[in-house]
Amino acid sequence: MASIFGEQYFNSIGKYLKERFGCRVIKLSLDAGFTCPNRDGTKGTGGCIFCSAEGSGDFASDIPGQIKLLSKKWPSGKYIAYFQSHTNTYAPVEILREKYYQALEYPDVIGLAIATRPDCLSPAILELLAELNQKTFLWVELGLQTIHEDTARLINRCYPLSVFDQAVSALSVLDIKTVVHLILGLPGESREDMLTSIHRSCSKDIFGIKLHLMNVLKDTKLAEFYPDRIHIPKKEEYINLVVDALEIIPQHITIHRVTADAPRHLLIAPEWGYEKRSILNGIQKEFKRRGSYQGIVFNDSSPSRPSL
Ligand code: SF4
Repeated sequence: MASIFGEQYFNSIGKYLKERFGCRVIKLSLDAGFTCPNRDGTKGTGGCIFCSAEGSGDFASDIPGQIKLLSKKWPSGKYIAYFQSHTNTYAPVEILREKYYQALEYPDVIGLAIATRPDCLSPAILELLAELNQKTFLWVELGLQTIHEDTARLINRCYPLSVFDQAVSALSVLDIKTVVHLILGLPGESREDMLTSIHRSCSKDIFGIKLHLMNVLKDTKLAEFYPDRIHIPKKEEYINLVVDALEIIPQHITIHRVTADAPRHLLIAPEWGYEKRSILNGIQKEFKRRGSYQGIVFNDSSPSRPSL
């Protein structure tokens, strides 16, 4: 069966951006100096159990330095300023405004990606995001990780699913693109649990999905679960799971990630967690073997649609 996505088999954000902007578009990973309400006691303490000290932004760096390096490889490339580390709407709105507009001042920065928690989108912040959405290419990333409340409690996410639903609706009303983060392999979750999280997320008005491989990093609470209280999949098992997941994601939803960027010096398990290229190759091979592609079973009339 032919894939409408060619040899890649899924609707990658890289392909989407290339078609939309006519050139290579690269994300600049930024640490704007924000913190997180799940660390400072406002929503919780200690943070999510998988989160590293850098607030899930271990590669974050500055804009001119990154552009200087990247432009050597892609001289005609453009950039999206990706506010990655910690919670990037967790500051007074005037500070947020200053940071976002500063990033847009660089001539080759053509848009913004803002990662945050769904409980950090006040009316004033939504108003600012709506303003930016009129002026530039924008998406907002929400760290959901799972739809299951018992897992959410276990990972110390510190907000219920209803808050995520409200945030997606509020962004959708403003025509702001939403990207959902989900983690594959959280403690205690079965394959069905993970696919149910994906399936439900896809029933919302979302632009994209990030599927994160569950990496166990040093100096996180999750490290205390290792090795006895967490299942670490073999690479082949993970590849199969990702392909199962992509098969139930509708084709219009962009795929922003299917692995995770794990700094090798922090990675405890899985030991193959940093082998991004090999995981991607494995996913393509598995799609080819199955004769399938993203969205193949996400079809109401399909007899093979999983009962979730
Ligand atoms: S994952 Fe996000 S919400 Fe959770 S502790 Fe880290 S920065 Fe905060």
